[in-house]
Amino acid sequence: MQLTKQTLQNRLDHVYDVIVIGGGAGGLSAGIYLQRYLLSSLIIDKGKARSFWMQELHNYVGLPPETPGRTLLKQGKGHYLSLGGDWLHAYVEEVLDDGEIFTVRVKIGRQNSTYHTFRTKYIIAASGVIDYLPTLENMRNVYDYAGYNLHVCLICDGYEMVNQKVGVFGANEGSLEVAFSLSWFTPYITLFTQGLFDVSSEFRQRLRDHGYPLIEQPIKQFLGANHQMTGVELADGSAVDLEAGLISMGSKYHAGYLERLTLERQGGNLVTDKMARTSHPRIFAIGDLKVGMNQVVVAAADGALAATQIWRDIRRAAGARRWEENIKREPVKSHP
Ligand SMILES: Cc1cc2nc3c(=O)[nH]c(=O)nc-3n(C[C@H](O)[C@H](O)[C@H](O)COP(=O)(O)OP(=O)(O)OC[C@H]3O[C@@H](n4cnc5c(N)ncnc54)[C@H](O)[C@@H]3O)c2cc1C
Repeated sequence: MQLTKQTLQNRLDHVYDVIVIGGGAGGLSAGIYLQRYLLSSLIIDKGKARSFWMQELHNYVGLPPETPGRTLLKQGKGHYLSLGGDWLHAYVEEVLDDGEIFTVRVKIGRQNSTYHTFRTKYIIAASGVIDYLPTLENMRNVYDYAGYNLHVCLICDGYEMVNQKVGVFGANEGSLEVAFSLSWFTPYITLFTQGLFDVSSEFRQRLRDHGYPLIEQPIKQFLGANHQMTGVELADGSAVDLEAGLISMGSKYHAGYLERLTLERQGGNLVTDKMARTSHPRIFAIGDLKVGMNQVVVAAADGALAATQIWRDIRRAAGARRWEENIKREPVKSHP
């Protein structure tokens, strides 16, 4: 059920089998599997998943290629709730490991916030990442195009950019390397430093060798209409025509609540085994937060793996159930 400030009170004493932090593609998939394994689960989600910004999901088998991320989230949440799972709209501030049980501290509401603590045997960290975007004076101008034809994911949207004039917007020299992978789809690439960093002479030479212009001025604004970006206006007032953009500025990892726990990481990502278990035996990590490929289909598969491994752990510890009525009892011996 959807928990509210009023209805959550009777869940505070309950020890969940699993609390899933994050209700995006990964968390919802995990929740659906957990409920179907008859485990008790709570998904805590602060909203605005990465898939929420995904205007069209082009590569998920069985769904029409123009399916918006919002549809996937709505459908997934409805499915999870229909299986009796608990859902709370809240922000997880901290997870504490008390030995057998974790306590999960949450904040509800941005104003007049209330704070509560839930308890669980297992954690699934499904809180994802969020992309850094170019910082312009008018951020509305960025949001107008980001997720439409101002892309953030080459794997997702390379196909949308075939033979288009594409601007690549980086945060450092390393992040501009994506241009060479993008060239698989289109060679008509212009790179933008946005005036944020210097570029080495070796890198400049590689760009010249490939014929890719490098523009080092800050950007004033993106140009276009109806969510279709058609170019950029630079600080000096000149314009560059484009048909699409690819932002490659890195991501913020949503894992602050795990800070006090020592977990193996690679960069900001959590390292897991093939069943999505982290270096802590009762913490699993799935989707964009873990080392791997940032795709909806992968997040959903990770959710299935993590839920299944947790079910195996709990089931094996409980042992097989007996069909009591069929068990032959030894007759009670009478003593002489
Ligand atoms: C514009 C865009 C287009 C994309 N296109 C595609 C595509 O075509 N195909 C494809 O496969 N993938 C695409 N992706 C990538 C895809 O969206 C991600 O790989 C996928 O959403 C990852 O799912 P996830 O469950 O790991 O994370 P998310 O979907 O980001 O879900 C994580 C959830 O956790 C919540 N959360 C974070 N921190 C906390 C906290 N402390 N407490 C409570 N909740 C928290 C977040 O708010 C969010 O709701 C695209 C991404 C973007 C941005």
